Amino acid sequence: MDNSKSVNPFQPVQPSDRLVYLATNDLDFTAHLSQQINHFGYIVQHVRDIKSLQNAIADQNSVAIIIDIPSDEDQPNEKEIFAEISALQHNYSNFIFTSDYDDQIVRLKSIRAGGTAFFTKPINIISLIDKLDSLIKSPSPPQPSKVLIIEDQPTVASYYQMVLKMSGLDAQIIADPRNVLEQLREFHPDLILMNTFLSGIDAADLARVIRQIDDFVSIPIIFLSNEDDFGKRIEALDLGGDDFLVKPIKASHLMAVVRSRLERSKTLRYYMVRDSLTNLLNHTAFSNVLAQEVNRCKRQNATLALAMIDIDHFKMVNDKYGHAAGDSALRGMSRLLQQRLRRSDIVGRYGGDEFVAVLIDCEAEQALRIMDDIRIHFSEIEFYPNETRSLSLTFSCGISTFPTYQSAERLSDSADQALYIAKAGQRNRVIIALP
Ligand code: GH3
Ligand code: MG
Repeated sequence: MDNSKSVNPFQPVQPSDRLVYLATNDLDFTAHLSQQINHFGYIVQHVRDIKSLQNAIADQNSVAIIIDIPSDEDQPNEKEIFAEISALQHNYSNFIFTSDYDDQIVRLKSIRAGGTAFFTKPINIISLIDKLDSLIKSPSPPQPSKVLIIEDQPTVASYYQMVLKMSGLDAQIIADPRNVLEQLREFHPDLILMNTFLSGIDAADLARVIRQIDDFVSIPIIFLSNEDDFGKRIEALDLGGDDFLVKPIKASHLMAVVRSRLERSKTLRYYMVRDSLTNLLNHTAFSNVLAQEVNRCKRQNATLALAMIDIDHFKMVNDKYGHAAGDSALRGMSRLLQQRLRRSDIVGRYGGDEFVAVLIDCEAEQALRIMDDIRIHFSEIEFYPNETRSLSLTFSCGISTFPTYQSAERLSDSADQALYIAKAGQRNRVIIALP
């Protein structure tokens, strides 16, 4: 089988990163599942029996092993299969079982054999991909959190910076509190440490100014003070300061407070900026990121492409098969975009059946190629809105690029117009906006 078209053109993956073994005698099932899984960037290697599986595992690791439980009388029965699995020499836990029937006894056996999931045919590909994704360890370590230190005494500021950096955080100092805004926008910290006694500026006023900026309304601010003045403490906390620490501050105490504040704010922010169905950035969060990326492109003379995607005739899915089937298709769209774009690209759900993506360092022709490739993959996915019907969908897409369009607003308007043109034609098309 030719698996080459499943490989993301930007992100060559290690085979074992995306490899899934499929043990079955059913060649039709193999061909179908391989093709469907391929759309999401996974590669299936077929093995005929458990013995061949043993050799394959010894040779190369995989994300998961799918074992199809045969129902055909001529095949080895499920009893033999489970016996063979338990005899398998392995330290492998990611078994997924598939079966023609939903049988409680077989489900129990599959759990005892180490199964982490059980799917009845026809396989809901979106649920299977969700499962496979959950089994992959995050390939890139999370970015360190960023702390901005607003402190005009250089030795004290350097001490805090050293403590934070030794704990793996990224810390920058602002020595002149009259110049906070530019660095704030540039560095985009996750937390601010601020001395309450700054020369030439009232710390309370500065906190107010920071809180007036949309991006920093909810950023945790920890005030650091030389004296335990109760009145000041109340004033600081009134301003939305999250903590008030009195100097001298022990490194361990500082880190405990910083970590707990970072953790809480990260959790809150995650739910504020994510769409609950797909976990993609929501409309507001995506718009903010787009504006930031446009600014970055201007500074660095870089390029980007904005793709706006809308599923074709999506109302019909809800009307004909119900809202749950519609939701499943929306999650499929989201998975596909995340899998087939680069990790550095940014994906969002604008609302309804409309999705958006920023393709970093990407010119028009390249963006067209990538989105058209995703369009073809999407059209080949078989959704199963119920057990007897399979359904395929298409989408239309409009693309605009920077520097042809120089602001986030113009990029959005132009991509939207291109999408409108794609819809006005026969749909299932990708159109580039031209000035
Ligand atoms: P077109 O090809 O012109 O885009 O036709 P369409 O039917 O897709 O029309 P449109 O994009 O305007 O319809 C979007 C539909 O998406 C409307 C609503 O029924 C459905 N929808 C919006 N949000 C959700 C959701 O969260 N879940 C589900 N299941 N459906 C949703
Ligand atoms: Mg639509």
